Amino acid sequence: MHELSLCQALVTLVRERVGPRPITQLRRITVAIGSLAGVDADAFAFAFGAIRDQALHTACQLELVSVAAMAVCDNCGRRGAIVYASAGCVRCGHWPLVLEPGGDDIYLSDLQFIDSGCDINSIQ
Ligand SMILES: [Zn+2]
Repeated sequence: MHELSLCQALVTLVRERVGPRPITQLRRITVAIGSLAGVDADAFAFAFGAIRDQALHTACQLELVSVAAMAVCDNCGRRGAIVYASAGCVRCGHWPLVLEPGGDDIYLSDLQFIDSGCDINSIQ
C-alpha cells in the first residue's frame, strides 16, 4: 500500500510548511490527486487516519480534491480530459498527447490554521 508511504511523505512536507507554528493550530490539509496519479483516494484517506493522531493531531482534517488529467493535442490543438496516459486525440487520432501538469501528480495544495478565536489562515 504505497498510500501509507505517500501519507508519511505528506506529514514530513506538512511539518516543513508549518514551520515554527504549533502543529495543534493546523486544522485542514488539502491534497490534490490527479486522475492519473495512481493513488487510491480511499486508501490514502485511510492511511492518513491511521497516522494522523501521532504524526499531527486529532483535529487536523484531510480534504482530498480530484484533479482531472487534461491533455492537449499538438496536431489539432484539441484540449480535453483523458482517462489513460496513453490516450490518443479523439478528434484527429494523433498520439501522443501533451499532458498538462497536475493530472498525474499528487500534491499539497493548501494548509489551513486556526490562530486564535476563529481566524483561519491559509498557505499554499
Ligand atoms: Zn488532435
